[in-house]
Amino acid sequence: MPMEINANTPSNFIRNIIDEDLASGRVKEVVTRFPPEPNGYLHIGHAKSICLNFGLARDYGGRCHLRFDYTNPEKEEVEYIESIQEDVRWLGFDWGEHLYFASDYFDQLYEFAVELIKQGKAYVCELSADEIREYRGTLTEPGKESPYRNRSVEENLELFERMKNGEFAEGSHVLRAKIDMASPNVVMRDPVLYRIKKVPHHRTGDKWCIYPMYDFTHCLSDAIEGITHSICTLEFENNRPLYEWILEQVYPKPHPQQIEFARLNLSYTVMSKRILLQLVEKGIVSGWDDPRMPTIAGLRRRGYTPQAIRDFCERIGVAKANSIVDYALLEHCVREDLNETAPRTMAVLRPLKVVIENYPEGQVEYLEAANHPNNPEAGTRLVPFTREIYIERDDFMLDPPKKFYRLAPGREVRLRFAYFIKCTDVICDDEGNVVELRAVYDPETKGGSARDGRKVKATLHWVAADHSLPAEVRLYDHLFATEDPNEGDLEENLNPNSLEIVTDARVELNLKDVNPGDKFQFERLGYFCVDLDSTPERLVFNRTVALKDTWAKLQGK
Ligand code: ATP
Ligand code: MG
Repeated sequence: MPMEINANTPSNFIRNIIDEDLASGRVKEVVTRFPPEPNGYLHIGHAKSICLNFGLARDYGGRCHLRFDYTNPEKEEVEYIESIQEDVRWLGFDWGEHLYFASDYFDQLYEFAVELIKQGKAYVCELSADEIREYRGTLTEPGKESPYRNRSVEENLELFERMKNGEFAEGSHVLRAKIDMASPNVVMRDPVLYRIKKVPHHRTGDKWCIYPMYDFTHCLSDAIEGITHSICTLEFENNRPLYEWILEQVYPKPHPQQIEFARLNLSYTVMSKRILLQLVEKGIVSGWDDPRMPTIAGLRRRGYTPQAIRDFCERIGVAKANSIVDYALLEHCVREDLNETAPRTMAVLRPLKVVIENYPEGQVEYLEAANHPNNPEAGTRLVPFTREIYIERDDFMLDPPKKFYRLAPGREVRLRFAYFIKCTDVICDDEGNVVELRAVYDPETKGGSARDGRKVKATLHWVAADHSLPAEVRLYDHLFATEDPNEGDLEENLNPNSLEIVTDARVELNLKDVNPGDKFQFERLGYFCVDLDSTPERLVFNRTVALKDTWAKLQGK
């Protein structure tokens, strides 16, 4: 029986179809699958498909299979197979015992092909690949029948067997379905079902030298696994008649139902694994998990959370029409999650030293600081305060314009969790650059408010000069500068400022024991995550996302 649907999950056309199938009794238990081809790492587009397929199984009390769907023996990579499993699990989904490989079905698929031949619905064709293309015709012209199309069943059976036994050269023979060379749908013009490839397969070794094509493999794998709803992206719409035709000929009912939905496109992002591989191979990024990559591995390293990605996938929903989703929505989801979960801390990216002249030399005072502004359970920590501190270079201006409320000569500001300080002197180098400030503090403002009730207009973050840690901070921006990087030249569309490395940042002493993956809000700066490269000797942080929420702003929130 269907479980109650997750109250937060909005309905969509796929859920409507499933509801009808359950109501009519066509389907008893919902079985879906996520079928990646292991030719690259998963990206945020795959996350949409994962959330959809595993989400349906979860909400309807069914199951979702993970199937490595590949028929091309040349492209298999163990690294990809492992990363895909890791990424699906990390997103919070579990296929239980239902891990499959399309190659596990090669024996059965061969038998189905033989069955098609016996029915007179498939034949061995000796046209070259170019000739097959030529004979296929165009969208406006019908195709031409192959001269091999009317071979006898016996001859076809014998030739197919000999193909299997390796008697023919690659490219010399293929098995084709015998459907309709005049079909308005080009996919139905006697599609190739099997081709010869004398290449060992990483799962089946050199057992096979003929391999089934995707269209033949996919529908039958779905049927063998008892998939009820085979959800795929829109570009397979034209393949649906072939999907149904193959099952109709050789597989007992009920058949899985193919349903297409629009793939996710994100602004400033490329999503094709082929292009992502190029970025990796050309060294444009540091690897599949470069934090600028739209891969799950990249987003994870960047500090995105599974919760935020799942939330994003729910919000974009599923539709039948292609569109481009604003990247700012994904960032909004990340902020919403991290705002709840990330402890606060202080870090100074571009330090400017301030000497507080009336604070005793050598004194260290530990000030209490809340770890989260609206979650008292997150507790407090003690932050050391000393005579010499660092503030953010940007938080001081020698000659401030009207709307600049932060520190300037003669001006008083609040140091977060500490005291008011007033800038009394500015020290510049020979070129006139500000290199140090002198200030006085007011001991009567401990904790951040003045006993006499006077106000200041700004609160600055800071760290103690000696009682803080050096850190490297990597600031990321979109990898591409253009909203749709698929248009025009890929490399010309790159954003030259997608990575800025700040090498002399300072962070709170409290961060000395952090581990890769730990996430924080650096107050006033954004959300940051400890990078894989980080060591206790050399802390490295990635900026996950800045604080300013452009998406919420656009929505008028
Ligand atoms: P790519 O073009 O990036 O290589 P693909 O579709 O070839 O993608 P597969 O590994 O074949 O990648 O995809 C596995 C599943 O993920 C398929 O069911 C596919 O429909 C789905 N998928 C891939 N990209 C997207 C996307 N951008 N949005 C939604 N689903 C996607
Ligand atoms: Mg593919």
